Amino acid sequence: MIKHELPSYLQQQSQGPWEVYLEQIDRVTPHLGSLARWIETLKRPKRILIVDVPIERDDGSIAHFEGYRVQHNTSRGPGKGGVRFHQDVSLSEVMALSAWMTVKNAAVNVPYGGAKGGIRVDPRQLSKAELQRMTRRYTSEINIIIGPTKDIPAPDVNTNEEIMAWMMDTYSMNQGSTASGVVTGKPISLGGSLGRQEATGRGVFVIGSECAVRKGLDPNRLRIAIQGFGNVGGVAARLFAESGARVVAIQDHATTIVDEGGLDVAAALEHARRTGSLAGFPGCAHLAKQDEFWDIDCDLLIPAALEQQINAANAGRIKAAIVLEGANGPTTPGADDILADRGILVVPDVIANAGGVTVSYFEWVQDFSSFFWTEEEINARLTRIMRDALASVWQIAEDRGVSLRTAAFIVGCTRVLQAREMRGLYP
Ligand code: NAD
Repeated sequence: MIKHELPSYLQQQSQGPWEVYLEQIDRVTPHLGSLARWIETLKRPKRILIVDVPIERDDGSIAHFEGYRVQHNTSRGPGKGGVRFHQDVSLSEVMALSAWMTVKNAAVNVPYGGAKGGIRVDPRQLSKAELQRMTRRYTSEINIIIGPTKDIPAPDVNTNEEIMAWMMDTYSMNQGSTASGVVTGKPISLGGSLGRQEATGRGVFVIGSECAVRKGLDPNRLRIAIQGFGNVGGVAARLFAESGARVVAIQDHATTIVDEGGLDVAAALEHARRTGSLAGFPGCAHLAKQDEFWDIDCDLLIPAALEQQINAANAGRIKAAIVLEGANGPTTPGADDILADRGILVVPDVIANAGGVTVSYFEWVQDFSSFFWTEEEINARLTRIMRDALASVWQIAEDRGVSLRTAAFIVGCTRVLQAREMRGLYP
C-alpha cells in the first residue's frame, strides 16, 4: 500500500504557540471579574479556513501548499492580521498569532478583531513568478472570508508590500472593482500609507525608549541586542542606532554579528539587502554558535524573529534589563516567570509591536476617505497611541502587582469581552 503523506494539520504536532496563548489567557482570567464568564470566547477561534494552494512550477511540475486564514475574534470590528510565508507555519501557530492580534488590537484600542494567515512554504525555494502564482491562488481561496469590512490582511514574516499588491489586485479582480482597503502594507502608489513600512520597528523604538527611561536607564547610552533583522528588527536597529544607542549584536537566520563598540547598522542593512542575510558581513565578530546570542551583555534584548525563542532553557542566561518583544509570542510563560524572578522587565508583544497594526489602521482609514496624511502626522499619531497604551498598561501593572503582559491582557481582554457582552449572543 502506498504511504500517503498527511497534511500537517492531521499529523500529531505540538500545539506550541496556541498552548502558550491559552496559558496567558488562564493567567489573566482571575483579573477579569464578571467578564470571566465569557472567557471561552477567547479560547476558540471564530472561524478557521484551511485551503489547498496548488501551483504549476516553472519546470511544469505541480506543487501543493497548505494555506490558512484564521479569524479569532470579530467582536470589536473586522479581522486584522498579517500573512506569513514560512516552512514551519502550522494551524497552531496561525491560531495563536490570530489570537494575539485580537488582544493587541484591543490593547491599543484600534477598532479591529484579530486574524492571521499563512502558507506552509519556504519562499526562498520559489522563483518570483511562482511566488506570485502562489500568492494569487491563496488570495482567491480565502477571498470568500476577507474584505475591507470583513478581514484585512497585512505583511508578516517573508511577506512584503509587493505581495500585498498582488493580494489586493487578485481580490479586486475577483470583486470586479479596485478594493484598496482589503489589505494594508501596500505600496504607497496603490493606497499604502507613509510610515507603514517602518511602523512596527518605530513603535518598538518608541516603547523601548520610554521603558528604558521608566527603568532609570539613560536612553543615549543603551546597549541593544536584536534577534531578527527584517522589517521589525532592521528598522528598530536603525532607529536605536540613529538615536545614539549602541547596537552590540544582531542575529538573523544565518549568523550573529557582534561588536561591543557598536555595529554599523546602516552598512549591515545594506549588506543584508544585497546578499539576503548577514553572513559574511565584514568588520566585526561572528558568534561561533547561534545559541550564544542569549549570553550577550546588553540593556535591551529585542527578539524580533519568531515565537518561543526565549524559553525555560535560555531565560536564566539573559543579561538584559529589559526584554522588548518585537516578535509575536517570543517568550514562553515559563520564561516569563524566570525573567520576572530575575528582575528583568518583559515588555509584551501586544504593546511593543503594535505600531504596525496602528499604522495599518491609519492606512485603512485613509483608503476609505481617499485622503492621505503626511508622514509627520502619521508618526506623531503613532507615537501618541503607543505611549498612551503603555502608560495605561504600566499603571495597571503597578496598581495590581502584575506583569506588563498580564496588564496588557487585562486591558485587551476586557475590551473584547465587554464588546461581546454588549452585543449579546446571536441568535
Ligand atoms: P521578516 O521576514 O521581515 O524578518 C524576519 C527576520 O528574522 C529575518 O531577519 C530572518 O533572518 C530572521 N530569522 C528567521 N528565523 C530566524 C532564526 N531561527 N533565528 C534568528 N533569526 C531568524 O519578518 P518581520 O515582519 O520583521 O517579523 C518578525 C516578527 O515580528 C514576527 O514575529 C512577526 O509576527 C512580528 N511582527 C511583524 C510585524 C510587521 O509589521 N511586519 C508587525 C508585528 C509583529
